[in-house]
Amino acid sequence: MQAEPDGPLDKLARLARRQFGVDMVLVACSDADGVWQARAGSPPAAFASLPFSAECPLRASDGRQLGTFRLLHGQPRDFSAEDRRALEDFAGLAAAAVEKRRALAAERAAEDSWRDEARNLSMAIAGSGTGVWDRNVVTGEITYSTGWKALLGYGEFDISNRIEDAYKRLHPDDAEYVRSAMQAHFEGKTESYEVEHRILCKDGSYKWICSRGKVVSRDAEGRALRMMGTTTDISAMRAMSERLQRTADLLVNLTDAVPGMVFQCGQAAEGGSRFLYVSAGIWDMFELTPEDVRDSAAAIEQRVHPDDLASYHTSLQAAAAAQTPWHLEFRVCLPGQGLRWRQGDASPRTGPDGSVVWHGFVTDITDRKRADFELHELAATDALTTLPNRRHFMSRIAAELARIKRHGSDCAAVLMCDLDHFKHINDTWGHAIGDGVLQHFANTLRAQLRAVDLAGRIGGEEFAVVLPDTDMERAHAFAMRVQQRIADTPFSSDGRRIPLTVSIGISTMHTMDADAELALIRSDRALYNAKQLGRNRIESAPSVFSR
Ligand code: GH3
Ligand code: MG
Ligand code: MG
Repeated sequence: MQAEPDGPLDKLARLARRQFGVDMVLVACSDADGVWQARAGSPPAAFASLPFSAECPLRASDGRQLGTFRLLHGQPRDFSAEDRRALEDFAGLAAAAVEKRRALAAERAAEDSWRDEARNLSMAIAGSGTGVWDRNVVTGEITYSTGWKALLGYGEFDISNRIEDAYKRLHPDDAEYVRSAMQAHFEGKTESYEVEHRILCKDGSYKWICSRGKVVSRDAEGRALRMMGTTTDISAMRAMSERLQRTADLLVNLTDAVPGMVFQCGQAAEGGSRFLYVSAGIWDMFELTPEDVRDSAAAIEQRVHPDDLASYHTSLQAAAAAQTPWHLEFRVCLPGQGLRWRQGDASPRTGPDGSVVWHGFVTDITDRKRADFELHELAATDALTTLPNRRHFMSRIAAELARIKRHGSDCAAVLMCDLDHFKHINDTWGHAIGDGVLQHFANTLRAQLRAVDLAGRIGGEEFAVVLPDTDMERAHAFAMRVQQRIADTPFSSDGRRIPLTVSIGISTMHTMDADAELALIRSDRALYNAKQLGRNRIESAPSVFSR
C-alpha cells in the first residue's frame, strides 16, 4: 500500500512537526506490500549521528505494531513527560488512520472480486441462453434482461414491464398451472418456483421455457416483496423428449398388440428379480398387472405349476450361466383360466456386477399342447376299443420292466387273453357284431383293472394285461374274475345274447428279463396251452428260472 499524497498521515506529520518544533517527523509503516512512509520536514544535517530522536510505536486495536511515529532533530533538546504523552497521542491517531486505510482497502478488494464474479456470472447466463427477470411484487413491475428479451425474439423496447402483460404471454393451457405455482411460492409453500410452460414469442409462435425463481425479500408479515428468476429455452429438449415419448408409445403399442407378453426383467447378482418392462399381455399370461411385478417377480413364480417350478428355476439358471437363450414349456395355475400351458423364450445379458437382464416373451401354447396330447393319444390308442394299441402297450410294459429293475424286488404279472372261436362269431353274426363283442370284452376287462394296471389290444381279438406288483397266484385270481364277468355278462344285440369265452395265459416279469417281450412270449405259450387243452382255460407259464 502506498501512502496517499497529502493524506491524513502527512497532515498528522506536519501537525506534529509544528507541535514539537523538530526538523523532521517520519511515520513509517510496513505491510504485506512493503514499507511506506509519510513525512514532514527534511532530514537534519547530522542524520547519521542524530543528536535527538524520539519514537512511539503505532499499535492496532488488537495490539499489533503497525509502524513507528518518529521525531528527528539536528540539535539536542529536552523531551518532557508531557511531550511523550503528546507523541503517544499522535501515534494513536496515526495508528487509527492506518487501520482505517487498511479496512477501506480490504473492502475495495472485496468489492472488486464481487464485481468480477458478477461480470463472470452475467456472461455465463448470457452465454447459456438464459434470461433473467426481476419482479417487484408490490408495484407489479417486472424487468427483463436483454438476454431474456432476445430469447423470445423481442427487442430492447418491445415489451412492457407490467406483470399483467407477462401473464398475457402465457399459453392459455399453461396459465392456470403457472399462476398456482407462483401463488404457492408466494405463500411460502414451496422452497422455490419452477415451472415449464409455453410462452408467446414476438413472431406469434409459442416456445417451451423453464422458469425458475425465488422470492428474495418479504415484509414482516412474510408477504413477498421482490422476486428474481431465470428463464431457459427448453424447446429443443422438449422436442427431443416428445420424440422419445412417441418412440416409447410406439413400442408399448406394438408390444401390447403382440399376443402373449413381452418383457424386460432384471435379476440382481444377489438373487431377487423384478420386471423393468412388461407388456399388457401379462394379464392374459399370468392374470397379473405390470404393477404386481414391478418390485419383485415373485408373483409370477406363484402362478407356475408346483411340478414345473423346479425346472423353471434350473432352466433359467442354466441359461444365465451359459449365456444361452432360455426356452421352456411350463404349466401355470391361474385363478380365472385354470391350468394353462405357457412357453417362455428369453435372452440373458449379464453385467459386470453379475446382474442379469432378460429380454423375452411368453406365449400361450395350451391349444398346441392339447392338440399334441390328442395326437399322441390317437397314435397310442386303438380306435375300436380305446385301449392302448400294441405299440403303446409295448412301450408301457417296457417302462414297467425298467421300474422293476430299479426296485430290484418287485415282479409284475403279464396276461395274454384270446377270445375263443371269435371267427365263428364273425361268421355267424357278422363283422359289426364281432366289433361289438370286441368292445364289450375290452370294457369288461377295463372294469377289472386297478389304477396301476394296464391293458392293451395287441392283435385282432388278442388282449394283453400287465399287473404291477402282482404274483402268479393273484394274477390267476384276476384272470378268473375276467372269465367270470364275461360268462356272467354276454354281449347282447337286438335281444340276441352272444355267449363268449376267453383263454388266458399268464407269466410273471422279473428283474432278470432282458426284454419285456420275453414275458409276453411266455404268456403266449401258456395261452397256446390253454387253447390246446380245450379253451376257456387259464394256464400259467412255468417259472422263469426253468424256461
Ligand atoms: P381260437 O379260439 O383258436 O382263437 O379261434 P379264433 O377264431 O378266435 O381265432 P382265429 O385266429 O382263427 O380268428 C380270429 C378272427 O378275428 C379272424 C379275424 O377276421 C377276426 N378279427 C380280427 N380283427 C377283427 C376286428 O377288428 N373286428 C372283427 N369283427 N373281427 C376281427
Ligand atoms: Mg387269435
Ligand atoms: Mg381267438
